[in-house]
Amino acid sequence: MSEETFVDNDVLLRRHGLHVTAPRLAVLRAVSDRPHTTADDIYKIARAEIGAISRQAVYDVLAALTDKGLLRRIQPAGSPARYENRVGDNHHHLICRTCNRMVDVDCAVGDTPCLTAADDSGYEIDEAEVVYWGRCPECVAAIS
Ligand SMILES: [Zn+2]
Ligand SMILES: [Zn+2]
Repeated sequence: MSEETFVDNDVLLRRHGLHVTAPRLAVLRAVSDRPHTTADDIYKIARAEIGAISRQAVYDVLAALTDKGLLRRIQPAGSPARYENRVGDNHHHLICRTCNRMVDVDCAVGDTPCLTAADDSGYEIDEAEVVYWGRCPECVAAIS
């Protein structure tokens, strides 16, 4: 982990007006170690780490952290929600249809919204949700 991008999770929580608790720290750590993880997997990782934590507690922590902007929730069609801690930009995702692996892809133009609608119909647009679906290199290699 590089020094300059590392921010202490304790500091991060306090900065967002949240008390520092073991479940919150465990969830933050799980998500930063494994970005784009589902709530169920985060629950398993957190439980392995701190033991006494309920599934509902993990869901509550995820909701609170997402609400405060510490985590970003990604909800791809036909998939459980995934969570990541890369929240400071407008990046998008590539998803493999075969193995569900999800990786980051930088925004096409770098700004929010990344796509200027050809016709905005008078809407004030603040976000463009872009998901690239396909097959990852491993799945392509496995089939060919
Ligand atoms: Zn794949
Ligand atoms: Zn991402």
